[in-house]
Amino acid sequence: MDLIIKNGIIVTDRKIIKSDVGVKGEKIVSITKNLKPKSETEVIDATGKYVIPGGIDVHTHFQLPVNDTITSDDFYTGTKSAACGGVTTIIDFATQDKKRGMLYGIKRRIEEANKKVCIDYSLHCVIVDWNDSTEAEMREVIKFGIPTFKMFMIYEERGLQSDDAMLFRALELSRKLDARIMVHAESDNIINLLIKRYSKIKGIGAYGHALSRPNYVEEEAIQRVIKWAEIMKGRLYIVHMSTGEGADLVKNARAKGIDVVAETCPQYLLFTDDIFKDKKIGHLYATCPQIKKKKDNVRLWKGLVDGEVSVVATDTCTFTKEQKARWKGNFTKIPFGMPGVETMIPVIYTFGVLKKKFSLNCFVSLISTNPAKVMGLYPRKGTITIGSDADLVIFEPTRKIKVDYKKLATHCDWSPYQGMELAGFPDITISRGRVVVKNGEFVGEAGWGKFLKRKHSN
Ligand SMILES: [Zn+2]
Repeated sequence: MDLIIKNGIIVTDRKIIKSDVGVKGEKIVSITKNLKPKSETEVIDATGKYVIPGGIDVHTHFQLPVNDTITSDDFYTGTKSAACGGVTTIIDFATQDKKRGMLYGIKRRIEEANKKVCIDYSLHCVIVDWNDSTEAEMREVIKFGIPTFKMFMIYEERGLQSDDAMLFRALELSRKLDARIMVHAESDNIINLLIKRYSKIKGIGAYGHALSRPNYVEEEAIQRVIKWAEIMKGRLYIVHMSTGEGADLVKNARAKGIDVVAETCPQYLLFTDDIFKDKKIGHLYATCPQIKKKKDNVRLWKGLVDGEVSVVATDTCTFTKEQKARWKGNFTKIPFGMPGVETMIPVIYTFGVLKKKFSLNCFVSLISTNPAKVMGLYPRKGTITIGSDADLVIFEPTRKIKVDYKKLATHCDWSPYQGMELAGFPDITISRGRVVVKNGEFVGEAGWGKFLKRKHSN
């Protein structure tokens, strides 16, 4: 064995056991007490600490050009910050090239990522156009190792929108080709109408962003796309669900046997749209969808416990204060997005487990096992078992750290969690058998991460 983790409290989605974990090369080869190291074996003492499977954030946007700017975390600082937050796999996006096709967009993105990634990664293919070759291209992409396709119900003006007919056909193919369709569900027409109305009001500031995207904008779109999934017996995944109404819809659909999985993000669990009334920092919190109300926070937490919301991801899309300042008081011009991958595990652990909302096992399910299963990475990722990749995170159960963006690895110069006391930051992060974070410090390297080929598995 090359590495032995001694005396840890091993936590998976199902078990909590005291054991050693033995690693050879990139894989877990032994889970038992009293493993004996040889002289060359690296030994990590995890007495009194949790050992969990590495976090999997299936929704990041690193190095993403948006209008005339680009997100401030590239694949290097983005995956470095992921590792420092205990995330050992990310899934980002590659947009179909309207002229040269899906695989072209994917290969270009892989070229950008490969030299920079510090942890393993994969991509979802974003569909923005439908033509005669789309079905054949989807088959190619699935064969290439990407069984998940993202579609937008909004952003018509950016040329990204899928209409109902596209969603209908994609969901039809998701069943036929064994894929899953990930949908950003908001009603474009209604948002645009409300934006027009509210941007006329002087001094409305960032709060106009909240007013122009009320809950029904998401509710109506989720309801509509669930209907198409029901009719086509498709496989659906709702990204970054932000409303309690969404959770109700997904719960009812699942009860009827419709294959829909929902993801939410820490920002929709913790914050409320009152933040947009803050004249100084409100605009920084503008995301899309935007942050909703207290009752939505409560309902989404309940969804995580009950199971209709089964994946936590971050939608990390970092813009610096300077980039965010481009809005100049016009809420329609704020670059949407916030940092999150580095704080996802601490936030969910602190507010979920330590506040006794759910068990440690449930926590591991939400940030690792469920995303691994839904995205076709399980059991290579998402669990601690013999034969799995040695992607492991070790942390002290109660040690809290006060979040300070200056000490985080992200390139972003602010954090929505600034000043919060969070437990669950890793002492050690291991990526495929290699220690990449030690005593909270990044010791990994660009280019270590590998592109993961996936296969739809459930
Ligand atoms: Zn996103």
